[in-house]
Amino acid sequence: MQPSNGLKLARDFADSIRYSGDCIEDLKPLDQRSEESYGLMRDHLYANELLVSESVTPSLYQAVARVLERLNIQPSAVSAFVYASSEINANCLLSSSNVCILRFSSGLIEILNENELEFIVAHELGHFLCEHLADSRSNGGVGIEGVIQLRAQEISADRIGLVGCESLDIALKAILKTVSGLSDQYLRFDVSKFVSQLKEVSGEDSLNSEFSHPSMLVRCRALLWFSMSHAYLDVNDYNSNDLKTLDERVKVDMDRYVDASSRKIIEYAKFETAMWIAANSIIQKEKFSKTDQSKFEADFGKKALVSLIQLVSELGKRESEDFIFGQLKAARKNLEEMIPATFNSELSKLQWS
Ligand SMILES: [Zn+2]
Repeated sequence: MQPSNGLKLARDFADSIRYSGDCIEDLKPLDQRSEESYGLMRDHLYANELLVSESVTPSLYQAVARVLERLNIQPSAVSAFVYASSEINANCLLSSSNVCILRFSSGLIEILNENELEFIVAHELGHFLCEHLADSRSNGGVGIEGVIQLRAQEISADRIGLVGCESLDIALKAILKTVSGLSDQYLRFDVSKFVSQLKEVSGEDSLNSEFSHPSMLVRCRALLWFSMSHAYLDVNDYNSNDLKTLDERVKVDMDRYVDASSRKIIEYAKFETAMWIAANSIIQKEKFSKTDQSKFEADFGKKALVSLIQLVSELGKRESEDFIFGQLKAARKNLEEMIPATFNSELSKLQWS
């Protein structure tokens, strides 16, 4: 999709601060709505929800307008609606063209002040600029890999959120409010104390005692680091290198606190697939040579080697072939469901030679 000239500047900027872990391009088309379904959706919203406008909701309108200006997005590209619900929610609907619809629940609007709302508006517009489609949360078929990607997308969107509201304090408070659902009435927010807590957390134990929601901690820490980066402090400097270092720190946090178990599951599925690919290629040969045996053992362990030898001696060649092929098919299918977007490229790395 070619961005229109009006959005090019904003998209280039968003790309320049995009979190490097937010990188699976193939997932994008899953979420894109056709022009037609986008039009139907817009008609539905006009009929059933409240359009944010200068005359009816002036303060919301102004908040959105300020963010659009800061992010270099022309107002005609965005329409915003409020819908009645006590849930704390915001989302962004895209079409294949360069326009988007923002939706905010009334429950969300109730607990945020105008500046905090700016963060949320800019965060959602971050999904738009990065072409994430936040709606993919309800979209099936993205696999475990897709869920990891969705979490990484939040890091990118938070960065745009910060640029859009221009204050780390406000951004952190908005995150805290949306995660807890609490308003100012209940939330005593001491930013400097919170920030020093974020800086101190280094090990898993201290994390567990202080934060019940690790992904919130990771988001806040990632945003804190970003707020101190050259890329943020000098937004015109697209080539600043410190984001790379910063992204590596974020990835360590994400891997440790959020994505570890998901990644382990994917790694195991790859291991299984690779093992059956190897077994399948071995069973096609005349004999299981010593070289192949030691390679199989090196790659998959002694137990796997012993089991394979036993399998062939018990079932015979023909039946083993069928069995191994069945296992291979199942393992491939399992892996494909976990990583639909990168399956083909990952599979090519698992070939046995
Ligand atoms: Zn988001």
